[in-house]
Parts: sequence; C-alpha cells; structure tokens
Amino acid sequence: MTALRPITIRRMVAPSLYVQGKGAIYHLGQKAFPYGDKAYVVGGSTALSVAGDRVRKSLLSNGIEVVGWNDTVKECTNSAIDRLTEEGRRARPHFVIGVGGGRAVDTAKAVAWKLKLPSVTVGTQCATNADASAESVVYTEDHRFLEAITLPRNPVLVIEDTDIIFRAPPKYMVWGMGDALSTRFEAEAYVRAREKRKDAEVPPSTALALAKGCYASLMEHGPRALADIKNGSHSSDVDDVIEAVKLSSAMAFENTGCALAHALHNGLTRTGQVRGEHGELVAYGTIVQMVYERRPREEVQQVFEWCENLGLPTSIKAFGEITKAALRAAAEHAAEKDLNSRNMPDKMRPSEVLGAVERVEKRSF
Ligand SMILES: [Zn+2]
Repeated sequence: MTALRPITIRRMVAPSLYVQGKGAIYHLGQKAFPYGDKAYVVGGSTALSVAGDRVRKSLLSNGIEVVGWNDTVKECTNSAIDRLTEEGRRARPHFVIGVGGGRAVDTAKAVAWKLKLPSVTVGTQCATNADASAESVVYTEDHRFLEAITLPRNPVLVIEDTDIIFRAPPKYMVWGMGDALSTRFEAEAYVRAREKRKDAEVPPSTALALAKGCYASLMEHGPRALADIKNGSHSSDVDDVIEAVKLSSAMAFENTGCALAHALHNGLTRTGQVRGEHGELVAYGTIVQMVYERRPREEVQQVFEWCENLGLPTSIKAFGEITKAALRAAAEHAAEKDLNSRNMPDKMRPSEVLGAVERVEKRSF
C-alpha cells in the first residue's frame, strides 16, 4: 500500500535569462530588444561612471533609445522609488535597467514594478545576490531595514559582466560570499520547517540542490578566487564564485527562505550597537545557526576556517562593543520576533540563541 501524501504546491521563480562572462555587458542591447526599444536606466553614480558608457553603447547599437537616465540612486528607500517612478512615468520607457549594487538594482526592480514594466539588471560588483531575484529590500534614509517587497516577477534579463565585477574592490566579493554562505543552512532549515507544517507550499527539491551547489562552490573556489582577485588574475574560480553568489544563491534563497542567520543579523543591527556589512553579519550568523543546530563539529570547523581564511568575522567582538542587554535584545528578536525565525523547524528560545553565541565565542562546538 502506498502512503497518501498531502497535496502540496511546488513553485519556483527565476529570471528569464542570465548572461555571465567577460564582455557580457555588450549582450545587453541584443537580449533586451525583445522587450521594447525605449530604456530607462537607473543606478548609482559610481556604477554608471564605470559601466554607463558600455550600457549606452550596447543599447544604442541595437536601436534602443535611452529615454531616461538617473545616476543618483544611493539607497533603496520608498521616497527614491516614488521619485524615480514619477520620472519614469514621464519618460515612457518600455523597460527599466538597474545598474550597480544591491541598492540600485532593488530600486530599479521596484520602479519597474510600479510602472508595470519588465526589469533588467546589470551587476557591477559581487556583494549582493539581489540582481536575479524578484525582491526589493527597502531601507530608511539612514539605512535601517524597513521591509522586503516581493515583486510579481523576476528581472527578464540579468547581465553579469565578470570583467567589471573582477575589477571592483575585493571586499565586495568577500561580503557577497559571506551572505551566500547562509543559503544552504537557511534553505535546509526552511525545508524542514515547511515539511512539519504540511499544509504550506513546499520548495521544489531543485531549490535545495541549488543551495547545496552554491555552498560546495563557495567552499571549493572561494579562497582561491579571492587570492586571484587580489593578484589581478581573472581565473575560472572567480567566475565560479560570481555564479554561486549571483545565480545559485539568489535562486535558492528566494525559492526557500531565510532563517536564524538572517534573523540574528536583523536582531543585531536593530540594537544600533554593531558595525559591520550585511555579508559579514550574515556569515557570523550562519556560524551561530550551525552551532545552534548542533551540526557536526567538523562541518562547523570547516566553515569557521573558511571564514577566517577570507577575513570574515567569526566573533561578535568584530562588530564593536555590544552590551549584554543589547545582545539579549538581539537574541530575543532573532528567536521570537523576526519573520525569519518562523522558518526554523522548532520554536526558538532566546536563551538557546544566546547559548549558541557563547559557544561560538568559546569555540566550543
Ligand atoms: Zn542576505
């Protein structure tokens, strides 16, 4: 007799086309052309000073008119989205192109959504996995997390020119790898949490396979890629890491979910007492999650050493002085209040999260 399985929906979202490689930016016009011949280009001033000429050239040589160009994006805020949407409405584009880091592409994707147009993203550094996702993270003017908006569709085209990304400061790749490190552990927790609930949508096993592939690639290629970037050698390890961050991490996280690593990041940043980049805090949060889950010592040790090798923090002290009360508040937020806490298979207790933080400090895992 076969066991009856509950009927569940498996769903997966993805960008329509992902193009990565040296000179990939010159594919932009040709690949975007099916979506129209009027582009609205949005980005930060640094990104557009580096890549803007190539963006314009690729569009014009494929008969696409640039009807709007805004290089003032500094932060993905509601007011920036509204301002650029208004500007876009007057320009009457057929699609919106976001050029730059997470803040620029998230703003562009949200603007495209408000204008009911397709979005295209062009990454210029490797600190973010936002380029391929259908999500915009909105912040306040002083860079405090406000909300993550889920958009109705992913970018129709994602361009990752590895020559441009390779030339960005190496720290961006370190931060991107730190964030992507969490993908496998959070995806595994998320899947277990969903299986317990039974009535909810479940991620396809494809998403979990991508999360595992991302992790394997980071472990294998990460340290060599960073060394190569620092030595000015554009190796295949560099391209493997770019793909792990920009494609497999993005597709895995948005078809599963975040869990304790990101919940702790959110709890710590809310205290106002920690200083650190998103990827640094998430890498540290990943170690805490692994210790909280009581994963095998060898596995934690491997991640620990990998982080140290790349210069990613492995101690809370790396983020500055944090009071005991603030740390407790961060653990309370991570265990009980943060939306991502629901993606852990069992209800968490703040004391257990604090216990994991302490075990990481004492290296007793
Ligand atoms: Zn993240």
